[in-house]
Amino acid sequence: MSHNPFRNLPPVTAILALDAVRTLGATHGQEAVTGAVRIELESLRALLKAGESLDGVLQPEQIAIRIAERLETNSRNLLRPVINATGIVLHTNLGRSPIAESAAKAAFDAARGYLNLELDLKTGKRSSRQDPIREVLCPLLGCESATAVNNCAAATVLVLRALAAGKEVIVSRGQLVEIGGSFRIPEIMGVSGATLREVGSTNITRIGDYEKAIGPNTALLMRVHHSNYRISGFTHSTSLEELVALGRKHNLPVIDDAGSGALFDFAKFGLPGDPVIGESLKTGADLVLFSGDKLLGGPQAGLIVGKKELVAKIERDPLMRAFRLDKMSLAALEATLRLYQNPESVIEQIPILKMLSVTPEQLRPRAEALAGKLRELAGIEHVEVREDSAFVGGGSLPDLPLPTVLVAFSSKTFSEEKISERLRSGTPAVLARVQEGLVLLDLRTVFETQDVVLANAVKAAITGNV
Ligand SMILES: *Cc1c(COP(=O)(O)O)cnc(C)c1O
Repeated sequence: MSHNPFRNLPPVTAILALDAVRTLGATHGQEAVTGAVRIELESLRALLKAGESLDGVLQPEQIAIRIAERLETNSRNLLRPVINATGIVLHTNLGRSPIAESAAKAAFDAARGYLNLELDLKTGKRSSRQDPIREVLCPLLGCESATAVNNCAAATVLVLRALAAGKEVIVSRGQLVEIGGSFRIPEIMGVSGATLREVGSTNITRIGDYEKAIGPNTALLMRVHHSNYRISGFTHSTSLEELVALGRKHNLPVIDDAGSGALFDFAKFGLPGDPVIGESLKTGADLVLFSGDKLLGGPQAGLIVGKKELVAKIERDPLMRAFRLDKMSLAALEATLRLYQNPESVIEQIPILKMLSVTPEQLRPRAEALAGKLRELAGIEHVEVREDSAFVGGGSLPDLPLPTVLVAFSSKTFSEEKISERLRSGTPAVLARVQEGLVLLDLRTVFETQDVVLANAVKAAITGNV
């Protein structure tokens, strides 16, 4: 290195004149390229000033590569695909439910062009954007009507406002839950203009508690599924049957906020306990509310199903307009619901159903193959395949672990936290778990088609520059 290190830094014009840099203008625009050259040279100058030896990185060609990388990084979307190696199937921070191919295709087509969103193609007359949802969902559930809004939180607000504003809604104290964020039943009630009438105690609510609270101002009886926690020990909650009988006796609608939206009993995956929407309707709930992107495995949506006159009343509420779904979500939702018409293939088609139903025996060969690839990497310290538990997530089935198989590893060069950070900032980004000095990769939530990319991402994370 020469006496004056700055003398080695080429001028802006020299960098701009390089072929490799000139061609970047076509993609990124000349202004952005010139800006990136300046910033790159400034950052090199700052490093030199700090006394860093930059032997080998001050060649114009080297600088050109770094400028191309800089422009590439700047132009990438901030929202980008992530490989979910956490094992948490409905990971709210990762967009909850990946949707089926046919649903994604329907959303893609809807986004790119025009569609008959509110037009009856037979008559040429205006129709409701809810018609396709009703047509597919009602026969599946055996209900009179259905409507879809932005999410289940919106569905709850809308139902309470349309059916109970200025009146009382009776809810058990044990069901005044916070679902996450700031979605708390008492606050939602406040926003909707309905008055919460809490009955019973945290652990015990009997049907008599509801009956005593019924008065001239009562509009609804409501059951809320406590999705993300459980009460155990000395407990009693009123069954939906009892609530329905009481509602009939007093001519009050019964609303069941089911949350997750299981269309069949998940007990067959070893996950019992979530209300099955069709069962709630059969039991006699007048309306059932559930999410589109939890156990249904579709796009973000809130579904309201049940009695026709109640759904019609809800659709007349002015808030319906504010909460309605857009064309992409509606197209994806209809396509998702159609997959349920074939109970044999639905588990294969809907990603989260497949992930929930996969067995440790099915995961093990994939985990062994990944572990084999990792063992060959320079820089790897320890690799093992081990049995562990995964969770459903997304406020569903909180305490029911799914047996799973993981690949656990550590590296010689980086701490587990550092590897996890490097995996997150790689392309594609990978989200892993970290535990007791090891990085854990749970293949339950990794698509089989991503296994090779995942191995490469680990390689990049453990062998790159410090
Ligand atoms: C998750 C959940 C909601 C909120 O659903 P979003 O679709 O996330 O808005 C409401 N109620 C219950 C019981 C839930 O589990």
